[in-house]
Amino acid sequence: MTTTENRTRMIHSALRNGFCSVDTPIEVTLSPGHPHGAISIDGVPHAAAREITVRVRAALSAMNAPLNTLAYVRVMPQADMHRKLAGYSGLDLPIALAIAAAPDVNFLGMLAVGELALDGTVRSVRGTLLHAQHLQRLLICGPAQPSEAAYYQHSLHVASLESACSMMSYLRGGRIRPTEMNPSAVSPVKQLHIGWPGTGRTSQARRDNDDLAASAATKRKDLALVYNLAGIDMPDRGRAAPFRAPHHTVSRAGLLGNAQSPGEATLALHGTLLLDEATEFPLGLLESLFAALRRGHTENGYPVQPARVIATAHPCPCGYHGHNARVCRCSAAQIAAHRKRLQPLHDNGFAVIDNTQPAEQAAK
Ligand SMILES: [Zn+2]
Repeated sequence: MTTTENRTRMIHSALRNGFCSVDTPIEVTLSPGHPHGAISIDGVPHAAAREITVRVRAALSAMNAPLNTLAYVRVMPQADMHRKLAGYSGLDLPIALAIAAAPDVNFLGMLAVGELALDGTVRSVRGTLLHAQHLQRLLICGPAQPSEAAYYQHSLHVASLESACSMMSYLRGGRIRPTEMNPSAVSPVKQLHIGWPGTGRTSQARRDNDDLAASAATKRKDLALVYNLAGIDMPDRGRAAPFRAPHHTVSRAGLLGNAQSPGEATLALHGTLLLDEATEFPLGLLESLFAALRRGHTENGYPVQPARVIATAHPCPCGYHGHNARVCRCSAAQIAAHRKRLQPLHDNGFAVIDNTQPAEQAAK
């Protein structure tokens, strides 16, 4: 009898390391004919295995698909990814699908990532879009967050379903045709605006940013990807270009990201990255940012591709050098030291727009 034979099936899930998606195969062997069933999970830490088992059992029961098999689950993460499995809930969905899907369902070319609630609803896991893009597979995941909506509108690469029940009927029914994804890299406009305090350089940069409508579908997809990773909503649902203005006290992780989240430099994708009071940023941090701009990505692999990088600076430490009404009290040595702090910007190709020069004053 075929119904009592062991059956082994493979399904793919993914783990995330910074901006890198790592394929994680799961092998499930089902031994039918056990009325009370059991799930045994290898390859993940004990505590995580216990939690996955509880959620999967409850979700299957909520789907009227009670466990009546012995399920031997073997998760096969790449060696250096094992530590990412502690507390990770994204394997619930692939494991439940592999256990409960009909024998004729083939998971070839699919990727499943999602957490199961005890009532069988599926919850999104942060970074799912990255998996779909990097691993070029059909992604089966939880419902879209607002930040992801633009992506879904333009991509048929993702099956985003609300419950494990709808996943099952989806798997038994149609297929979704993958589409191409081509994130584009363009080198940014870089400008250094020198001006006296209160001359509205920041609000000008913000107004200029309105011209950068992120209307192209490819740009909106890119934005959805990085905002999904950060777990925050896209600016105006992807219709506006992002405008990011990190304070000069921003941490390295805040500017360039870490293994969990992208930083401000990445969130400015296709929009404006404003470095207000650029001379106040730590030099080492600026150098790391410029290196990331040259490469187009951070060391963690997050894209660093703003359309514009606008730096602002005062002409001297007090701010009023050259002003016709205010007196600058800075010494020549202080002004020289201040100008020296602008050197990294010059070295990195920032075009200087000096609003304190006589010609500009005369023009006013
Ligand atoms: Zn001064």
